[in-house]
Amino acid sequence: MTNREIPYKIYLSEQELPKKWYNVRADMKNKPAPLRNPGTLQPMTLEELSGVFCRELALQELNDTDPYIDIPEEIQSFYKMYRPSPLVRAYCLEEKLGTPAHIFYKFEGNNTSGSHKLNSAIAQAYYAKRQGLKGVTTETGAGQWGTALSMACSYFGLDCKVFMVKVSYEQKPFRREVMRTFGASVTPSPSPTTRVGREILEKFPGTTGSLGCAISEAVEAAVTTEGYRYVLGSVLSQVLLHQSVIGLETKTALDKYGVKPDVIIGCAGGGSNLGGLIAPFVGEMLRGEADYQIIAVEPASCPSMTRGKYVYDFCDTGMVCPMAKMYTLGSSFIPTPNHAGGLRYHGMSSIVSQLYHDGYLTARAVEQTEVFKAAEEFCRVEGILPAPESSHAIRVAIDEALKCKETGEAKNIVFGLTGTGFFDMTAYEKFNDGLMSDYIPTDAEIEKSLSRLPKVDL
Ligand SMILES: *Cc1c(COP(=O)(O)O)cnc(C)c1O
Repeated sequence: MTNREIPYKIYLSEQELPKKWYNVRADMKNKPAPLRNPGTLQPMTLEELSGVFCRELALQELNDTDPYIDIPEEIQSFYKMYRPSPLVRAYCLEEKLGTPAHIFYKFEGNNTSGSHKLNSAIAQAYYAKRQGLKGVTTETGAGQWGTALSMACSYFGLDCKVFMVKVSYEQKPFRREVMRTFGASVTPSPSPTTRVGREILEKFPGTTGSLGCAISEAVEAAVTTEGYRYVLGSVLSQVLLHQSVIGLETKTALDKYGVKPDVIIGCAGGGSNLGGLIAPFVGEMLRGEADYQIIAVEPASCPSMTRGKYVYDFCDTGMVCPMAKMYTLGSSFIPTPNHAGGLRYHGMSSIVSQLYHDGYLTARAVEQTEVFKAAEEFCRVEGILPAPESSHAIRVAIDEALKCKETGEAKNIVFGLTGTGFFDMTAYEKFNDGLMSDYIPTDAEIEKSLSRLPKVDL
């Protein structure tokens, strides 16, 4: 029997909740490369960004100097309705694995949207409201972001137009209905309602859509509708800033018990939960105060960090958004439809990309059947049905814990459990029926989309 001196769930009091977000860019010597205007190739100015994003969010996007940014009272109040999220000591999983490792997970699925996305959605809706906007547009892939944003918009009385990647729209009708229940309108993407959607439909009839394409449509809808701005649930530096609440709470909770993590693991789609979880820890690394092993986990079917290139690329298929320097598979990369596990975006946050490039973190690609095996093993002992995205982190946490079993090391392993998988039962059904397969893109396929990278020398 393990000595259970640390509680199963480490909660913080309201007083211990973060009052400021931590902006890791302030401590980075090599700053993430700026977003650039695809026409002029110059760094995007505040004025240009303010045409697409709310002004305060554009300011946050450009801010790579202030280490701390106040969380407005209204957002703090909203956070208090569902935060702190628990940091759970996975005693049962440890016992089942027979590992000497100590496993902790930060569980972000304890709100109706079922994921960490609400942390940024409420911030973005707040700034839109304060600017006097009528509404916002966005894209959603698996649906968690759209759900989180519809909750945040209904809280502040904003209109919310969601472009949902077609394959998810069809596979996840209930996710769509949650959004509509919170008052959002949901359009499958690509759609005939935008110019870029019509173009894509013409070029690739029968396409199941992609995040990059839905982003183009949402941006077009925002800039062509009076009183609307576009909001994005991942990738952007402002989103990583808001998600720093995950890491700040985790660090406070671990510090309370004198636990120093050895390994920190997060799944990486656009990089927002990972960037938020690791922020205060990477901050210590950047300032030379501590050292951690950080692992970003991505799907083998959409391996932007492990097989992509670190270059300027378009953030969207329609090439209407600013260009970002990031690890990317090319904006024309569309993961195979047999890929069920989220994390389908072709690129990676420029902050996470730069940190990875500078060696502060490593990346690992895992196949989806292995991911679902880990999900099953986890849920049977820990009692949480994890999102497929989150299960990428579970996979690697289990792998690391099993390594400890071999070496006898009692490492502290912390991973981000970003959400629940109740709307992913089609994927679980496939797995349970033994029909899930893995698909790893060939070098030729990746080369093909990389060959369409913008021809710029930046
Ligand atoms: C969106 C999402 C992710 C991936 O997005 P990141 O920006 O990489 O964090 C992971 N897990 C869940 C549950 C999500 O909803």
